Amino acid sequence: MKDKNCIICNKKKFVLAFPFNTYFNGKIFFYKKCSSCKFVRIFPYPTQQDLKKLYNDKSYHKKFYSIIETNEYKESVNYLEKYLNNRIKLLDFGSGNGHFIKEINKIHKCYGVEFSLETIKRLKKKLRKRLF
Ligand SMILES: [Zn+2]
Repeated sequence: MKDKNCIICNKKKFVLAFPFNTYFNGKIFFYKKCSSCKFVRIFPYPTQQDLKKLYNDKSYHKKFYSIIETNEYKESVNYLEKYLNNRIKLLDFGSGNGHFIKEINKIHKCYGVEFSLETIKRLKKKLRKRLF
């Protein structure tokens, strides 16, 4: 995968999206925003080895999502509602514990994408009507 161009608009100019970064697998991952279309991505892209190491840990979602309160998802949904006038369809890329989908589905139709098969199985049981 070409690492320099935006996957949405194909432009090359990015700025830091947040003052935070993530140290994982001996690398620092930054969050960069495309200057043209505002798409936010991780830089550099994680390799297959990075993704395997991250998601093979079966406790991944327990570790990273258990401390997040469902109220934070309610706040996210309320924030999005300020900008959404109509009912829309959404894709939650990286659904985690499914809290966001559960909240946003009260108003909009939302589908989920998850890397971990274990997580997909759990989410399918929890949120029966949603596709993963
Ligand atoms: Zn772009």
